[in-house]
Amino acid sequence: MITVIGSINMDLVVETDTFPKQGETVQGKLFTTIPGGKGANQAVAAARLGSQVRMIGAVGDDSFGIELYKKLMSENIDVSGIVKTNNSTGIANILLHNRDNRILFVPGANFDLNKEIIDANIQLIRESKLVMMQLEIPAETIEYVFTICQEHAIPVLLNPAPAANFKKEWMNQITYLTPNETECELIFGADWETVLKEYPNKVIVTLGSEGAAYYDGSKIVRIPGFKTTAVDTTGAGDTFNGAFAHAICSGKSIDDAVEFANIAASLSVEKFGAQGGMPTIDEVLARLG
Ligand code: ADP
Repeated sequence: MITVIGSINMDLVVETDTFPKQGETVQGKLFTTIPGGKGANQAVAAARLGSQVRMIGAVGDDSFGIELYKKLMSENIDVSGIVKTNNSTGIANILLHNRDNRILFVPGANFDLNKEIIDANIQLIRESKLVMMQLEIPAETIEYVFTICQEHAIPVLLNPAPAANFKKEWMNQITYLTPNETECELIFGADWETVLKEYPNKVIVTLGSEGAAYYDGSKIVRIPGFKTTAVDTTGAGDTFNGAFAHAICSGKSIDDAVEFANIAASLSVEKFGAQGGMPTIDEVLARLG
């Protein structure tokens, strides 16, 4: 059982020919609502691969909350740890113009995910094989989950995004940290090879189409990405994390888990949308050979 403790958002995407200037009203071309939030995305990625996944999170008292809750349920995710608060559901307002975008997000209910909600779900956490978190929920909650996991010797995978919310003092409470190259440099202020050597078998840096790397205690192990034509890389990191968690919980070594996660993420970039492109286990196995 993987427990994901994290954000659940609705992305409100508007495609437009021009961005409105101050005080201006512009007619957009297309509007879509896309389920997102790093927590929900990573939960979906692991569940599609066949992991038993439970999600602890918070949605608001509105129609997006209901829709997102049902969506997670339809992905066979145990939603008993998701609460509804009096807030609005987390949203990201995304304006798209060609390859340029402007994003405004409101965490809403995601910031209501507090210690009390964690306490109410403590049994779920204790039964977990792995707890997976990101940084779109309050830092106090993350720190509280660390203490519970430490007490019960439960491994923690932390995807440090957005990196600005990361605290270096957390390093000894984390089993696996999965920054991308930019996040790695931002957090540690050093190039990724230096960082990996400081944290053997702990930091796994993702390198976009180049795959991912970690340090095994004696050498840097680089596992190349699967060569493909990317259509939309949104959610590549989330797919990587969900797949890595799935593989580690299935008993794979870090090396094999990274290879598996690279394959899963490569499949996800071939389709549009974060959750839309996340592969099933059969698709990954077919490519893994
Ligand atoms: P993030 O999406 O968090 O910025 P990365 O860009 O490092 O993270 O991508 C995460 C993973 O997705 C990579 O480690 C790799 O496995 C896969 N990936 C990303 N972009 C591509 C690509 N263009 N081709 C193949 N795989 C990719």
